Amino acid sequence: MTFTPQHLTSLRLISDTFAPGDGAGIPPASAVGAPEFALELAGVNPRAAELKQLQTLLRLWDTRFLGFVLTGRPRKFSSLDQAGRERVLLSLSDSRLAAKRALFAGLKGACLAPYYITAGPALWDSVGYPGPPGPLASAPDPELKPEHVTQDETIVCDVVIVGSGAGGGTAAGVLAAAGLDVVVLEAGEYHDDRDFDGSERTGFSQLYAGAPTVTSEGQVALVAGRGLGGGTVVNYTTSFPTPDHVRAEWAALGTPQFLTSEYDDALAAVNTRLGVNKDHQGAGVRDQVLERGANALGWNVDAMPRNVIGCDAGIECGRCGMGCRIGAKRSVTKTWLVDAADNGARMYVGAQARTVTIENGKAVGVTAVSAGGNVLTVKARAVVVAAGAIQTPALLKRSGLANPNIGRHLRLHPATALWGLVPDLVNPWEGALQARYVNEWSDLDGDGYGVLFETAPLTPAFGSGFVNWRSGAQHLQRMQELKHMLGVAIIVRDKGPGGTVKIGKDGEPIVSYTLSPGDTELLMKGFDGAARIAEAAGATKIYSTHHRTIGYEPGKRGNLESFLAEVRKEGAAPARVALAALHIMGSARMGGTPEISALNPDGETWDVKNLVVADGSCFPTASGVNPMISIESIAYMNAKRLAAKLIPATGG
Ligand SMILES: Cc1cc2nc3c(=O)[nH]c(=O)nc-3n(C[C@H](O)[C@H](O)[C@H](O)COP(=O)(O)OP(=O)(O)OC[C@H]3O[C@@H](n4cnc5c(N)ncnc54)[C@H](O)[C@@H]3O)c2cc1C
Repeated sequence: MTFTPQHLTSLRLISDTFAPGDGAGIPPASAVGAPEFALELAGVNPRAAELKQLQTLLRLWDTRFLGFVLTGRPRKFSSLDQAGRERVLLSLSDSRLAAKRALFAGLKGACLAPYYITAGPALWDSVGYPGPPGPLASAPDPELKPEHVTQDETIVCDVVIVGSGAGGGTAAGVLAAAGLDVVVLEAGEYHDDRDFDGSERTGFSQLYAGAPTVTSEGQVALVAGRGLGGGTVVNYTTSFPTPDHVRAEWAALGTPQFLTSEYDDALAAVNTRLGVNKDHQGAGVRDQVLERGANALGWNVDAMPRNVIGCDAGIECGRCGMGCRIGAKRSVTKTWLVDAADNGARMYVGAQARTVTIENGKAVGVTAVSAGGNVLTVKARAVVVAAGAIQTPALLKRSGLANPNIGRHLRLHPATALWGLVPDLVNPWEGALQARYVNEWSDLDGDGYGVLFETAPLTPAFGSGFVNWRSGAQHLQRMQELKHMLGVAIIVRDKGPGGTVKIGKDGEPIVSYTLSPGDTELLMKGFDGAARIAEAAGATKIYSTHHRTIGYEPGKRGNLESFLAEVRKEGAAPARVALAALHIMGSARMGGTPEISALNPDGETWDVKNLVVADGSCFPTASGVNPMISIESIAYMNAKRLAAKLIPATGG
């Protein structure tokens, strides 16, 4: 679907209001092609209904009619000066109506992230960001040789796997090593070390899922990887095992193997294959400051286990959210998918699975399409779905599965940051991706639910999503402070009841999720704990990530109590505070009965035989720690069980 010049003109007006530049060297958004890039990113959304909404908004934006609807005054946006335009945007941001606030948050992200990507050195210099390093000529050669679907074709195999991320990649490695003929279908493309230039432009266009990018209520941004390797290519390499209390909770839901040696063995195999270690700790300033704060409080802080070998834990590592140029990250493209290829697995990229083929209650294959419209029909004895916790339930629903638990119980580990201005030169785009964690408050209710504190690598566009906007000048100034900002990441282990994934008439996923009162309370405690850490680390200014400015200056203006009172008053209703989900889980969960779960203890759907799920969807509840190791371990276990079932029948 295309955008017209009129759409672009409207987006230029809005973008220049968010990012007017400084009237000196720093250009406005429209001067650097940010609105064009924003439309390019928006255009990948496969949901025609959402694109149409955006087109209608842009078509009407500069009309008296919309001026009246948005502000109660029939004035064209273009007739206002900068201050007047900013007031219009703020009226949306501060509205009592969640839909208006969500509109503001959507526009802010759509305008500012492309701006910080396209603005180039004039802006980056003022922020202190040196820009992307560019491709590395000495980067290792790609190890995999996936194919494209260039014509309609039908192929046959033992097992077809949909999705090649943490779960799908692991399942492929295990099943192929067991001697099964495996085909992997991946919707995205294959990008490897040589393609990575460390830039947010390349990274966000190529390595991240373009849709859906936010829950339908506008409360939580959704961040997931796309392409061969899925999230493991862009993730932060934090490699926690599943905690014991979480394993016990999962076992109690009817999957006893989480407490037996079967799961111990799976965790051990994953740890070994990924080379998880604590030897690459080079804590950047970000993590050193976090550690300083936690130590000053006497709180537990520890080194992060990471799946890297030969990581520089410095400049390279800070950009690794856009792919690791030096091949140090042990993503599934470096591990399980290599094993799969060595054992004869075939891989197709740019192949999006649309439906699972079901005959007589059994899965017998998958139909996929290429971007060019060619259809690949795969016939198989079993199907493994590992398209991530948003696309997996969507695919199962598109294929006609009806268990009501498919698409329920979605968990997101809602995450945000607390900002602390510190004297140290933090440069949040540098240093090991995540080198320290603080788990002092990870069990606040006695049941293992609480918050985890970490840091995160922040390049300007990604970081801008967590910096509030009250005017073009204020936002720019806060971005210019980013280099001295400690961002304490607050990760909530959400108890739920959780969200849902449904599909629209077009078969595409619609994600609904609202923080429960209990999870909102955990988030509030998260701001409390993070502010304590920042203050103890010597922060002179502390801010939350609410859209209104909420902050204090320790010893000077306000204090922790007054800050927390304001934080609680503002709350966490949709689009009041910036929240993001990088851990998407639980939407087709394993369990003991079809009444409480979508999958049986083998990870097979209750509805259809030989249809196994092997990704983050399988989690019975939230893992409470970064989930990659748990996902790979579940995929390993479910794949082993499937192989055991299939191999006797082949005589293998
Ligand atoms: C920026 C970022 C940082 C993170 N950091 C960490 C970390 O440090 N530690 C940690 O434990 N976790 C981290 N995570 C989370 C972790 O990476 C994910 O939870 C994990 O990758 C999810 O695994 P998955 O198999 O469920 O899905 P994914 O890894 O997302 O893989 C799903 C794959 O399926 C493909 N796909 C989707 N639909 C289809 C279809 N219809 N047909 C074919 N293919 C399809 C997708 O393109 C994708 O490649 C991070 C995530 C992000 C985004």
